[in-house]
Amino acid sequence: MPSWGIGVLVVVWSSYSASGRLPDFQFFVVRLWRQFPQRRSMNSGVPTSLHVDGCKPLERFDFVTVGQGIAGTTLAWQLRRRGLRVLVIDREVDDGASQIAAGLITPVTGKRLAKSWRWDELHPAAVAFYRSLEDETGTAFFHERPSLRLFADEAERDEYHRRADGINAGLVRHMPDVPAHFNAPLGGFEMLHAARLDVPRYLEVSREQFRKHDSYLVADVDLAKDVELVTDCVRLPRLGVEARGLVVCRGFTPGSDPWFGNIRFNAAKGEILTLRIPGLTEDRVIHRGIWLAPAGGDLFRCGSTYTWDDLNCVPTAVGRAEIEAKLRTFLRVPFEVIDHRAAVRPVIDAGYPVLGRHPAFQQIAYFNGLGSKGSLLAPFFANQLAGCLIDEREPEPDLDVRRFLAK
Ligand SMILES: Cc1cc2nc3c(=O)[nH]c(=O)nc-3n(C[C@H](O)[C@H](O)[C@H](O)COP(=O)(O)OP(=O)(O)OC[C@H]3O[C@@H](n4cnc5c(N)ncnc54)[C@H](O)[C@@H]3O)c2cc1C
Repeated sequence: MPSWGIGVLVVVWSSYSASGRLPDFQFFVVRLWRQFPQRRSMNSGVPTSLHVDGCKPLERFDFVTVGQGIAGTTLAWQLRRRGLRVLVIDREVDDGASQIAAGLITPVTGKRLAKSWRWDELHPAAVAFYRSLEDETGTAFFHERPSLRLFADEAERDEYHRRADGINAGLVRHMPDVPAHFNAPLGGFEMLHAARLDVPRYLEVSREQFRKHDSYLVADVDLAKDVELVTDCVRLPRLGVEARGLVVCRGFTPGSDPWFGNIRFNAAKGEILTLRIPGLTEDRVIHRGIWLAPAGGDLFRCGSTYTWDDLNCVPTAVGRAEIEAKLRTFLRVPFEVIDHRAAVRPVIDAGYPVLGRHPAFQQIAYFNGLGSKGSLLAPFFANQLAGCLIDEREPEPDLDVRRFLAK
């Protein structure tokens, strides 16, 4: 404690002893002293543990990520792997896209059976990242298993044959016969190298690890009020935190931050059902306009819808009816709906990630736009952003957040 601080306390205490009450000014000083332990510690210039509002002790960090969805979590890991101290903050409101995402990774997508965007570099990066994290945490959350796509019609089957030995070579395998509980007279094909990230498990295991290292905090950060920009660093006095940089990883949050608020989203709401399907033993993900994914025992998840209005997390009767109708076109056995959820995919521009430092405030950066492929995109692009933040590399021009701010 500095000597002037001791002086103030002595004056306050002697006044209190004499009169039995605290004069207003002295009361104010004491209250300030009690309320801002974190300010005292930071101003001392000594890295120290901080206790804020009964939370676990916090220390100074290299970076803070605001948001613990797939983006913030994966970036935190990529930075930690470079030896940096990263504080992850999330408000835990349970409305993020990652809370309900199916986590599917598929090499071939869309009606035209196109090879997934930059598959040859994104897929190996994702596999290496999730596998190594499974080893590090001793937890399984990344399941590699071929998925089965049923031909919707003859045109799709013909398209398959046109592409199978060309662009999709090595990624697909023809399956003329499919199990009897599926109505698919034309058969289908397996997508090799498909995978499913158990997103809730991945986030939970990561959160446990961050907590263990005093690197996780539950808080709703008001970027406009809570963050102070200081030369070469940021401070969040309310939370007792100071860092070299802060990365905004908040998913679909249009117009709600002071630096990136004018980035335009083309976000798409999606709904997903959890089903009980007694007797269905399939362990592959099935695709046929929608997908049906095993979720343990006789539980399956099924989705998802795409709508571009009413961008909220409220499940709708229309969404449910659409999923059920599509499922009935290929599933021969009865099912029961036991849960129904909705969230908004953070799509920006054409659905590619957006990342990098703010042009005017170098301490502030952005990682967003993972769209409908967060599980596949996050490891590669979190690594790219980590390179920008640490090694001063430039992001790919097409994905650079500065391009989107200029619009
Ligand atoms: C129905 C549906 C199905 C999907 N299926 C798949 C799929 O099969 N495969 C796939 O790869 N992707 C899928 N996705 C897409 C995937 O969910 C997203 O790409 C990904 O979750 C985006 O992650 P994010 O971290 O950018 O955003 P979010 O998951 O939205 O995370 C943002 C986080 O920031 C926190 N936050 C926001 N503001 C604040 C604040 N002020 N203070 C503190 N914390 C804050 C939120 O609480 C949240 O946890 C699906 C999405 C939906 C909606």
